[in-house]
Amino acid sequence: MARPLMGKGPRAAAGPSEPERRRATATRPESRMRPPLLPSARSRRRTALLALLPLVVAACLVDEADTPADSATAADSAALAAGTPADSPLAAVGPDDSTAALADSAAGDSLAVALSPERPMRGGVLVAVAARVTDRSPRCTWRGEPLPCHATAGGARAIVPLPAELEPGTYPLVIEGGGARAARQVTVADTTFERSLVFLAPPQFALLGRRADVARDARAVQQVLARESDEQRWDGAWREPVAGLRGAEGFGAERFYYAASDSARAVQLRPEMRAAGAFGTDSAATPTRAGAAASWRHAGLDVATPAGTAVRAPAGGVVSDVGQYVLTGGTLVIDHGHGVSSAYFHLDSALVQKGDVVRAGQQVARSGNTGLTTGPHLHYGVYVHGRAVNPRLWHDATANVRRATRTDTTAAAPATRRP
Ligand SMILES: [Zn+2]
Repeated sequence: MARPLMGKGPRAAAGPSEPERRRATATRPESRMRPPLLPSARSRRRTALLALLPLVVAACLVDEADTPADSATAADSAALAAGTPADSPLAAVGPDDSTAALADSAAGDSLAVALSPERPMRGGVLVAVAARVTDRSPRCTWRGEPLPCHATAGGARAIVPLPAELEPGTYPLVIEGGGARAARQVTVADTTFERSLVFLAPPQFALLGRRADVARDARAVQQVLARESDEQRWDGAWREPVAGLRGAEGFGAERFYYAASDSARAVQLRPEMRAAGAFGTDSAATPTRAGAAASWRHAGLDVATPAGTAVRAPAGGVVSDVGQYVLTGGTLVIDHGHGVSSAYFHLDSALVQKGDVVRAGQQVARSGNTGLTTGPHLHYGVYVHGRAVNPRLWHDATANVRRATRTDTTAAAPATRRP
């Protein structure tokens, strides 16, 4: 997606003034970190828990009698040794989590679920492993809706996307199969996303007028990104597709697009303005009348790179799309398996074809300046079950797999990172 001329990107010469930018930022309702639960909600939960306590104790006693000799610790050690992205379930249990775990026990579920990261947040990804759900075809639900999940050597694993649009809150996750059922309440913390105005030169702004083509492209790309394959083709920590990923910005940013000529009049980033849909996969936010802004939520990270820079596969996978699209320009998508795909936009050229198997580190493309851009860069996206997540947080998640494998049974709580 186009790098913004405002905000953290290169600034437009005739964009809104600095005070306007500050006002827009200051009035953002989501620009402040909010605690996962308000104190009043916590105290309500504790009160409810006290009322349930006799039932909880009874349920735990029943579960202990029915549980085989293998302890949760032993089962989770097996998950870690198998290289499954898991942290110690004990490390994942905080004061609120313990009440959630007891509440789950009261519902007839005492199975441990290893959650990573310890503090999931909007725009990130949650990896959950139920070591004692060993069915070959586990079933999972997230927020009451079916979620694809897979059997791994360490137990049933769900990779849960937490899109930027998700409201912060506490949501149920269930992993079950073969008569075993594990359930957890997961609190998703709030985080801040940038908002910016982008002023486009006439050739780029004209692309927004091709509404039918943009809609067709969005459907095609979304279909590719939603692909689910049963084979996990990555192993361990993902690599940077180009240097500089750590410093890249823009995931989840709400961007509003205007013609460069509009910058002469007072275009303001008003607090009530909301981006609808994700860039590249959603056509809902193209302008419907003259003077209206197109807007999207930015679905990846923009890495400043000179055109022609080698783009390398961050992990093993199969090329699931190579195409030329109106907004995303030269586009490449890699399916890494288990519902995880990576996408590369604005490319100069692709060096692989659809169906090619690629290995980690293999050069797959050259970066460019095609589609809706304001300068050469690589747009790098990671999608989990078709939903965009912050690539940096996904890379962190895959690094935690490696750390857990190395440290065997003494996995520390993985570090979390805020976008
Ligand atoms: Zn972008």
